[in-house]
Amino acid sequence: MKDMNDIPTLFGSKVFNEITMKARMPQEIYRSLKQTITTGKPLDINIANVVATAMKDWAVENGATHFTHWFQPMTSMTAEKHDSFITPIGGGSIIMEFSGKELVKGEPDASSFPSGGIRATFEARGYTAWDPTSYAFIKDRTLCIPTAFCSYSGEALDQKTPLLRSMEAIDIQAKRILALFGNTEVQRITTTVGAEQEYFLIDKDVYNRRPDLIYCGRTLFGARPPKGQELNDHYFGAIKPRVSAFMDDLDKELWKLGVLAKTEHNEAAPAQHELAPIFTTTNIAVDNNQLIMELMKTIAAKHDLICLLHEKPFAGVNGSGKHNNWAISTEDGLNLLEPGKTPSQNAQFILFLCAVIKAVDEHQDLLRISAASAGNDHRLGANEAPPAIISIFLGDELYDILMDIEQGNVHTDKQKTGMEIGTAVLPAIPRDTTDRNRTSPFAFTGNKFEFRMLGSSISIAMANVVLNTAVAESLRQFADALEGSEDFTGDLNRLVVSVITAHKRILFNGDGYSDEWVAEAEKRGLLNLKTTVDAAPYFISDKNIELFTRHGVFTENEIYSRYEILLENYCKTIHIEALTMIDMVKKSVIPAAIRYQKDIAETAASKMAVSPDLSIELEKSLLENISNLNLQISENIQILEKHIINVKELTDNLETAKYYREKIFLAMVNLRCAVDELETMVGSQYWEFPTYSEILYSVK
Ligand code: ADP
Ligand code: MG
Repeated sequence: MKDMNDIPTLFGSKVFNEITMKARMPQEIYRSLKQTITTGKPLDINIANVVATAMKDWAVENGATHFTHWFQPMTSMTAEKHDSFITPIGGGSIIMEFSGKELVKGEPDASSFPSGGIRATFEARGYTAWDPTSYAFIKDRTLCIPTAFCSYSGEALDQKTPLLRSMEAIDIQAKRILALFGNTEVQRITTTVGAEQEYFLIDKDVYNRRPDLIYCGRTLFGARPPKGQELNDHYFGAIKPRVSAFMDDLDKELWKLGVLAKTEHNEAAPAQHELAPIFTTTNIAVDNNQLIMELMKTIAAKHDLICLLHEKPFAGVNGSGKHNNWAISTEDGLNLLEPGKTPSQNAQFILFLCAVIKAVDEHQDLLRISAASAGNDHRLGANEAPPAIISIFLGDELYDILMDIEQGNVHTDKQKTGMEIGTAVLPAIPRDTTDRNRTSPFAFTGNKFEFRMLGSSISIAMANVVLNTAVAESLRQFADALEGSEDFTGDLNRLVVSVITAHKRILFNGDGYSDEWVAEAEKRGLLNLKTTVDAAPYFISDKNIELFTRHGVFTENEIYSRYEILLENYCKTIHIEALTMIDMVKKSVIPAAIRYQKDIAETAASKMAVSPDLSIELEKSLLENISNLNLQISENIQILEKHIINVKELTDNLETAKYYREKIFLAMVNLRCAVDELETMVGSQYWEFPTYSEILYSVK
C-alpha cells in the first residue's frame, strides 16, 4: 500500500528544483539563474561555478557519487556518460568536486550516435550543453544534468535542441497575436504536454524463451490465443497483485523525480497498461516521458517482469501508443485553447483554434512523419489506432460554430447573436461530448488537442517540434495580416472565414476506421501515408524545409540528417527482425516439426507392426499437412534469404527502405503465416516457444 502521508516529502526529493535551489544558493545567484531560465540568456561562468557546487553538495548528500550529462540522441533512448566527482588533491587524497564548466558543457564522443551524415561532413566530436529550463535530478547515485547535444559546428544531434527552438518560435509568434488583443504584459508563452503512455508487462521467464522479444521487442510468430481481448474484461479491470506492486514502485520512483504520475490502469489488451502524468511544460514533459519509459523497464526488471514498449508486440492484439495532449499557455497558466466566456476571449480562442487547424492541414505530412517508425506502421490504420490519415475531430458543437462563422450565419440554437467573431459570445462547449471519438488521430478535448498517432516506444519530441513550429507559422501569418489593421474586427473576421474555407477539409467528426472515410479523405485531397517509407520523402519537401528554416528550428542539413536517420532506423529494424526470424525458424521451428513428424511416423509404424488392419489415416494426414507446411516454410526462408542478399546491392536509403518494405517485410509476413499455422498443428511439447496465451497471461 502507498503511504499517502509520505508522498509530499517524497515528491521531487531527487530533483534540484526551485525550492531546493532557493534554499541552497545565495539569493543573487538564484536570481541570476532564474533570469537565465526565463529569458534563455547564457549563464555567466562565475555563477555557473556556484550553481555547480551547490548542486554537487546537494547530490552528494543525497547519495550521488557521479554526474552525467543526460541527453536524448536521435534514437528513442536517452544517453549518459558517467564521471565521478572525485578529484585528486595530492598525497593520495581526493575531494568531491564539480565545476561550472563541467555543469555547462560536456564533450561526449558523438560518433556512436546517429547523425544522418552530419558527422561525415563535420567533426566526430559533439558537445552537450545544460538546459537550465529542465531540472537536474539524481538517478542511480548519479546526478543527471539534462542537456542538449550538438555537433561542434552547432548542428543539433538530439531531440531537445529543435524542441527548445520550436518553443522559442511559438513564444515569439503567439505573443504577437496576444498583443493584437491588447495583452502586452505576457512574458513567456509555452506549450504544455501530457503524454499518456501505454505498455505491456509480461513475466521475465516467458520473455527469456522468446528470442524475437529479446532482439526485436515484438513477437515475430505466434498463433492467436483462444482467449484474446474479445471479452474486454481486462480494460479497467482489477489490477493483479504483481502489477500493482510494480505500479506502486514506479509511481514512487517517478514522484521522487518530480514526475507527476497520476493515473495507472489496465488497457484494452491482456497484460496491457497505461500511465498518464499530469501535463507540464513541453520540454519537461518530453524529458519526463523518457524517464517514464526508462523507469518502467528498470523497475519491471526488479519485479521479474519485462516491460514491452514496442508498438505491436503481438499480432491480433491491441498495440501500444502514446496520446500527446497539447495546449498553449501563458506563464501564469492561462490556457489559450480554453474557449473563453467573453467575446474578446472567444475571438482570441477562435483565432488560435484556426491556427491549429491550418497548421495540421498544411503539415499533415510532418505530423505523420513524427509518428513514423517500423513498429508504429503495424498499428496505424489497423482499426485499433488512428488511421494513417490525419484529420481533426472538433465535436459537433465547435464544428457547427465554425461552419456558422464561415457562412456568416447566426448560431441559432445557442445564442441569438450574430457570429461575427469579434463580438459574439460563443455558446458553452460541453467538454464531455468532445473526446468521445476514439478513432480520430487529432481531437479537440475541451481545452487541448490530443494527438493520438504516436507509437509507444518513440520519443514525443518530434511530434511537439512539428506542432509548435507549424502553429507558430500559422500565427506568424495571422500576425502579419492583422498587425496595423485599421478595421481589426472586420479583418479578423475575414481572416477566420478564409482559414475555415481553406482548411475545413481536415475537419472530420465521423468514424476514422471506416472504409468510407478512406474514400472520402482521398476525395478531399488528404494524405494517406500508410507506411514510414511512404511518409519519409515528404520530410525534405521545399514546403517543410521552408517551414523549419524560417523559424530557426532545423537547418536544411539537419532536416536531411533526420530524414536519413528515419530511413536507416526503419531498415535496421526490419533487417534485425528478418535475421531473427530466419534463426528461430531454422533452429527451432523446422526441427520441432521434424521431431513431431518422426514420432507420428513411429506411431504409425508400430501400429502397422501390431496389425496391418489398424487405421493410420490420422497419422498419414497429419504427416502430409505438416510436411507440406514445413516445405512451404523452408521455401519462404529461401526467398527471405535471397532478398537479404539482394538488398545489400542498394545504396540509396529510400530505395533500400522501399525494398525492405516491399520485399523483405512481405516475405516475413508470408513466412509468419505458415509458421503460425504450423504452431496450431504441432504438439505442445515439441514447440519451444511460449505461446501467445502463455505470454499474455504470464503475470498472475
Ligand atoms: P483522457 O480521457 O484521455 O484520460 P484526461 O482529461 O484525463 O483525458 O487528460 C489526459 C492527459 O491530458 C493528462 O496527461 C492531462 O494532464 C493532460 N492535459 C490536461 N490539460 C492539459 C493541457 N492544458 N495541456 C496539455 N495536456 C493537458
Ligand atoms: Mg487520451
